[in-house]
Amino acid sequence: MDPTTRGRFQRRLEQMVSELTEAVEGKADATAPVQLDTAIGRLSRMDAIQSQQMALGLKTRQQQALLRARNALQAIASGTYGQCRRCKGPIALERLEVQPDAVVCVKCADQARR
Ligand SMILES: [Zn+2]
Repeated sequence: MDPTTRGRFQRRLEQMVSELTEAVEGKADATAPVQLDTAIGRLSRMDAIQSQQMALGLKTRQQQALLRARNALQAIASGTYGQCRRCKGPIALERLEVQPDAVVCVKCADQARR
């Protein structure tokens, strides 16, 4: 991969990391335990629990995405970015365009899903 392309992916990944870090840290309030406050009725408490669950799910996905983006940045730093972690073959540029944090090629990702 040429340095210009790698630099472009690096900037995208850094952008992803900063956005995700902000999102994950900013979600603290939404994932706080629902207060069993008598001031809110039973239904709204269930709503509150449900939206807390959704916020937790989102937070988990964002944390995983953050981890992937950081891994990819590490790969850039160590010069292995764009190389599949499993088969060591190249990851298609089109795949990285869609998913800059991909660390395995399409073939290996398909196998991992099975
Ligand atoms: Zn592979």
